[in-house]
Formats: sequence, C-alpha cells, structure tokens
Amino acid sequence: MSEAPEAGFSLELNEDVRDVRDWAHGFAADVIRPAAAEWDEREETPWPVLQEAAKIGLYSLDFFANQWMEPSGLGIPVAFEELYWGDPGIALALTGTGLAAVSVAANGTQEQMLEWTPQMFGSADDIKLAAFCSSEPNAGSDVSAIKTRAVYDEAKDEWVLNGVKTWATNGGIADIHVIVASVEPEFGSRGQATFVVPPNTPGLSQGQKFAKHGIRASHTAEVILDDVRLPGSCLLGGKEKLDERLARVREGKRSSGQAAMKTFEASRPTVGAMAIGCARAAYEYARDYSTQREQFGKPIGDNQGVAFTLADMATRIDAARLLVWRASWMGRNDKDFTNAEGSMSKLYASETATFVTQNAVRILGGNGYTREYPVERWHRDATIFTIFEGASEIQKLIIGRQITGLPVR
Ligand SMILES: Cc1cc2nc3c(=O)[nH]c(=O)nc-3n(C[C@H](O)[C@H](O)[C@H](O)COP(=O)(O)OP(=O)(O)OC[C@H]3O[C@@H](n4cnc5c(N)ncnc54)[C@H](O)[C@@H]3O)c2cc1C
Repeated sequence: MSEAPEAGFSLELNEDVRDVRDWAHGFAADVIRPAAAEWDEREETPWPVLQEAAKIGLYSLDFFANQWMEPSGLGIPVAFEELYWGDPGIALALTGTGLAAVSVAANGTQEQMLEWTPQMFGSADDIKLAAFCSSEPNAGSDVSAIKTRAVYDEAKDEWVLNGVKTWATNGGIADIHVIVASVEPEFGSRGQATFVVPPNTPGLSQGQKFAKHGIRASHTAEVILDDVRLPGSCLLGGKEKLDERLARVREGKRSSGQAAMKTFEASRPTVGAMAIGCARAAYEYARDYSTQREQFGKPIGDNQGVAFTLADMATRIDAARLLVWRASWMGRNDKDFTNAEGSMSKLYASETATFVTQNAVRILGGNGYTREYPVERWHRDATIFTIFEGASEIQKLIIGRQITGLPVR
C-alpha cells in the first residue's frame, strides 16, 4: 500500500470518486439489480455477473487497489454503497475477494502483496476468488479462541496447518485462502499469524456450505485444513517479524500486531458502506411506493405516520454515511481512531440498515412481505451487517473500552 497522503476532509467528492460512483451505480442498476432475485433463489455465486464485472474492470485488482488508495479514503465506501444498493448478496460475491486482499495488504510484506493479490482476482477471461478465514465454530466474536494450529517444520522451512474454519465467504471455492492460525496458543490472539494458502494446496477442502437467511448469492462455507503444508514464504509478514513479536509477548511487552483484529479494523467502515447501500435501496423503494399507493383516498405517504418514518429513515442513512466517510478518511490519512470511529461507523450503519429495511417492509404492507417486491430480500440481507466483521455488541465493547479506558467486558 502506498504512503498515506494528507488530504483534507471534504464532503464534496472529487471528480475521480464521482466518476467511479456513477460507473458503479450504472453497473448496479443495469446488471446487478435485475439479476438479484434469481441469484437469491439459486443461492449460488453469480458467475455471469462476476464475468460482466470483470469484463469492464469492476471485478479486478486494479479497481480495488485504486479505490483503496484513493487519497480521500472515499473511493471504497462510495463504490461499495452503489454496488450494495444494487444487491447485497451479489455485491458480496463481487467484493469478498477484495476483503481477503486487504488482509494480505495489512499483514504481508510488499513482496507478498505483489505476489498474491493479482492471483486472487485472476483476469477477465479467467476469474479467481479469494477467501479470508478467521472464524471457527468456537471462535467467532472471541478471535483469541482460534484453535487452528500452525506448526513450523524447521527442517523443511514449512508450516503445517490443521483446523476447521467456518462462515468463510468464498470458502472452498476460492483459489486463494487467507487463514488466521494460532502459532502459540497460550498467547491467545497475540500468538496468531496469518497465512496464504496457494491454489490447489493438498489438505484444504470445503466442508459444509451454509443455506442462509440473506445475502444468498454469496457463498459461505466451512474450510477444512488437514495437514496443509505451506512454504515458509506463505507466512504473511515473514518469520523474523513473527519471532520478534512472539519474543516481545514472552517478555511481557505489548504486542502491536494482532493479526485478525488488524484486518477487521481496516475494513469496518467498508462494511458500514455496504449497509448504507442496502438501507438506501429499501428507503428509496419505500419512499416511491408511499407516493403511489393510495388508501383512504390519498397516498399513504401523505400520512404523518408514514412520512415521519421515511424522515427517520432518510436522516439515519445520511448520519450513517457521514460516520462511514469520516472513518474512511481517517483510516486513509493515518489518523488515530481515538474514539473507535471505525467501529462507530460500522455499528451505526448496520443498525440503520436493519431499522430502514424493517420499516420499508412495513410501508409496503402485505406487498413488502412477499417475494414479488425486493424489500423483503433487503430486509433479510440487512441483518448480516450487524453480525459479521464484529457483531454490534462487539463494536460497542470496542467503543466502550476506547472512550472509558476501562477493560469493559
Ligand atoms: C454470511 C456470513 C459471512 C461471513 N464471512 C466471514 C468471512 O469471510 N470470514 C470470517 O472469518 N468470518 C466470516 N463470518 C463470521 C462472522 O464474522 C461471525 O459470525 C461473527 O464474528 C460472530 O461470531 P459468531 O457467529 O460465532 O457469534 P458469537 O460470537 O457466538 O456471538 C453470538 C452473540 O453473542 C454476542 N456476544 C458475543 N460475545 C459478547 C460479549 N463479550 N459481549 C456482548 N455480546 C457478546 C454477539 O454480539 C452475538 O450477538 C461470516 C458470517 C456470516 C453469517
């Protein structure tokens, strides 16, 4: 990743970001939205949509890297809002690889980033996927409980990984898996490291594929690691850095690199932007519906009861976006998250998505409850934003600890 630039915060999007927003919106409106219901029903990765996106460069390392490095920090949140406005399930299928690539950028060396991230996306003719695998059956919110073990075989300079990962987006169908594993179990999250598993590595297989409540176009599955042998170069950040970190922990010094937490911190506002896209889709649909649907001889939106609900929906979406943009700008411009502003943005945006989509269903009445109308799907999709990348309660723990300085439990 390039040096963080100093860009002043502005609500006026620069021309590059505006262009990307309009481009992503066009793809979301023309390609993603019309395909959404079909892939939700099929519960499969929407390969034809990925291919369309790859053809125009929207599913590509270039696109993600350029947006990630956009100096204002608003490239990713603005583009993601549009894609998730199109459809959250398909958008996650399109962006899941990018989230895995971020973990390589956050934990790997420059050399490792250059080696692995292009292989995660492949090319327009030969699309590849990547998966980030941290969660385990007994280690979801509690990342320190990860049981997957990475043992170093010094004679061969190889790492041997064993364990079961769960809930992995693109898990098992990805070409490259990024795995968080425990090297020194007694050190908890401070004894963990992140590994890249190259394509076709023996010992890695897909376990159960989950049938889900929402975002059903995104593939979610277990990943089984059975004596997976990796060259030493697959340890992100390198062995020397890991050994130094473990030595610091042994001496009782503070460790700075908690592998999984680092990845989550970098991507929290991004998840907030996804939630805003979903919320905006439902809000716009309900707003338009309220001006068309008549009961008691007038549009339902002409009742304060409905208009006030729409007012709350619109206000919360804008407030969430401001928090997401602030945190994204802070992250890109290397500001300290003194009040856990990244977590604030994810917490507020995800809760906003559930609030807005639930009210959209209610404004559409019986229609809102059927699969004839998309708000039902957005309502199912919205809940995920309060669960993954740290559930809402965990965001509150992080914010609470940060603002009080106490070890809130
Ligand atoms: C569709 C989907 C995709 C996912 N994709 C990925 C992925 O690509 N990679 C990956 O690694 N993981 C992924 N996850 C996993 C996700 O990050 C976890 O589900 C999430 O971290 C929560 O963990 P859990 O499900 O084990 O819930 P638990 O940790 O068991 O939490 C259950 C409930 O208890 C609450 N809780 C837990 N601890 C506390 C506490 N200390 N204080 C207050 N409340 C608490 C939680 O907030 C939650 O409400 C995905 C999950 C889903 C459903």
